[in-house]
Formats: sequence, structure tokens, C-alpha cells
Amino acid sequence: MARKIADCRRFESDSNCSLTIIGEEDEVIAVAAKHAADVHGHEDTPELREQLRGLLEPEDSYIAGSREAEPFPA
Ligand SMILES: [Zn+2]
Repeated sequence: MARKIADCRRFESDSNCSLTIIGEEDEVIAVAAKHAADVHGHEDTPELREQLRGLLEPEDSYIAGSREAEPFPA
């Protein structure tokens, strides 16, 4: 199974979070949901996890450094 990326740099946040999580899809979702709740004030719900799943990017699209942030989809 190809690894996936959840990239906080992709979205605007109060803390300008630079965290990037890379791993198997289920691993990334588990960590990203906890991170979104701990750091970004989201509620760790099945809906959030589903939304995060839709925002994952393929591992080989990873780019080092910074990237332009867009608003987190509501
Ligand atoms: Zn973050």
C-alpha cells in the first residue's frame, strides 16, 4: 500500500503549523486526527477523519521546504 501525506503546511492555521505526517493511510489518519484535535481545536470525530482522508496526498508529491497555505475547508 502506498504511503500518504497529511500536510499542515497546506492549510492556514493560527500557529503556522509546519507538521507533515507521512505513512500508511490508516496510520496517518490516526495521528492527523489526534493532532488536529490537540493543536488545531478540531473535534476528533468520524466526520473529521473522513474529511482528513479526503485531503491526503500521495507520498511522491512531497516537496521539502514551505508551501503556500490555503484555508482549511469548512
Ligand atoms: Zn498542524
